[in-house]
Amino acid sequence: MRKATIAAKPRPDSEASAVGQCLCGAVEVEIGTPARWAWHDHSSATRRAHGAAYATYVGSWRKRFRVTRGADEITRFKDVATGTTRSFCARCGTPLAYERARSAHMVNVPRALFAGRTGREPRYHVAIDQLQDWTYLGEPLVPLKGFPGIVWERPTRRKRGRTRGISD
Ligand SMILES: [Zn+2]
Repeated sequence: MRKATIAAKPRPDSEASAVGQCLCGAVEVEIGTPARWAWHDHSSATRRAHGAAYATYVGSWRKRFRVTRGADEITRFKDVATGTTRSFCARCGTPLAYERARSAHMVNVPRALFAGRTGREPRYHVAIDQLQDWTYLGEPLVPLKGFPGIVWERPTRRKRGRTRGISD
């Protein structure tokens, strides 16, 4: 017998989907693909909520978003001042969803939860004026001697200009 919960709602056979999960695997979510849109959020609230320079989200119509495992593990933080609710896994802390009262039909899911494609490239930026100067923006990197697997941005590279090769 089907339960009257979002978690038990079957996926329409005709709908393609993307499956995501939290770090510990307790919670699994699914969205219908292609996602509605995708963007990078540079706002201070999202930066702190994720503990990262910025977060990349895919927005899903609420009716195409499902919690397919671990609904009982989800904890929510409601920010009354901004009318937003952030959900995360109570076991491992992974952010799972970001919902805004002013767009109640959408559920925004961190892109990083999904290993596969979501059908939407993140071409948009929210709060770009809050971009941090320590955000990595693709500067040239070179191996760090003595630390296999670690690369770094030489502090002198910008002063020299970018016409020299990466192996200089
Ligand atoms: Zn978890």
